[in-house]
Amino acid sequence: MGKLLDGKKMANEIQSEVAHRVEELRNNNKRVPHLGIILIGEEGASHTYVNGKIKACKAVGFEYTLLQFAATITESKLLKHIERLNQDDDIDGFIVQLPLPEHISVEQIITLIDSKKDVDGFTNHNFGSIISDQPLLLPATPFGVMELLKRYQVTTKGKHCVIVGASRIVGAPMSLMMVEQGQATVTICHKFTQDLAEHTRKADILIVAVGKPGLITADMVKSDAVIIDVGITRVPDTTKKIGFRLLGDVDFENIAPKSSFITPVPGGVGPLTIASLLLNTLKAYEQQHT
Ligand code: NAD
Repeated sequence: MGKLLDGKKMANEIQSEVAHRVEELRNNNKRVPHLGIILIGEEGASHTYVNGKIKACKAVGFEYTLLQFAATITESKLLKHIERLNQDDDIDGFIVQLPLPEHISVEQIITLIDSKKDVDGFTNHNFGSIISDQPLLLPATPFGVMELLKRYQVTTKGKHCVIVGASRIVGAPMSLMMVEQGQATVTICHKFTQDLAEHTRKADILIVAVGKPGLITADMVKSDAVIIDVGITRVPDTTKKIGFRLLGDVDFENIAPKSSFITPVPGGVGPLTIASLLLNTLKAYEQQHT
């Protein structure tokens, strides 16, 4: 059985470190970091993620402001709210919870966010900083994966890392971070990749961020590989009070025994994404106000 990469435990460690820093600020009569959160529509998963982020803010002593809008909000109205947050000196960083309703362009929204306040690390400026000597606010989920690997002392240097999924918020920045910070050799796969298994079987470190439960089966993974499952999908489950359970993209049950390290879902990468958001908010605060 591979060693479990316990995201919850590591996220708690990071939370304690951030809470300690907030305590120092309070003791020095400084104001504390303040996160803005824009939440649009009624989608259950988005509400759950935002609740998790608010809970984390409370736990470390950050201030937060939640701006909630109906799914019918126009793009121009949303852009105005973003401009307001960009200019509000009390807000150190903010996020726009994805996904957005179809009539709103994610690209437009991201483009308008002031990169100094972009604590999700989505803007081109922050994305590009992955390959600079001075990384700025790094994309939260890949940043979380790197923290998890680092804190468990998983060697990445010189390893072959295969990333499945090439999205702007996870797979693509993950590949750059694995090259730049991880010093790994990287293969990136996506929906047009032919013979996915041929690639995944070569992975020393396999990172999967697709959103298709069961996509990665045991025969697609070599023995002793490190498995990072970023995928989160809600599947109906009548045995659960909430009516669903969360599944990752890898067949955990059959892959765990042959892996060296593996993340569970839930409790793996998810908590680290929130922890990265806290670290980025603290960084945004320190860069702007101290
Ligand atoms: P996305 O839909 O934007 O991107 C999916 C990627 O998977 C694309 O690059 C696509 O080409 C690729 N893909 C689709 N089908 C494929 C296939 N059959 N084989 C190989 N590649 C395929 O999704 P996203 O926003 O990157 O999210 C991916 C998953 O990660 C989702 O389940 C999402 O919920 C989860 N996620 C988790 C966290 C976290 O904190 N753990 C954060 C963000 C996203």
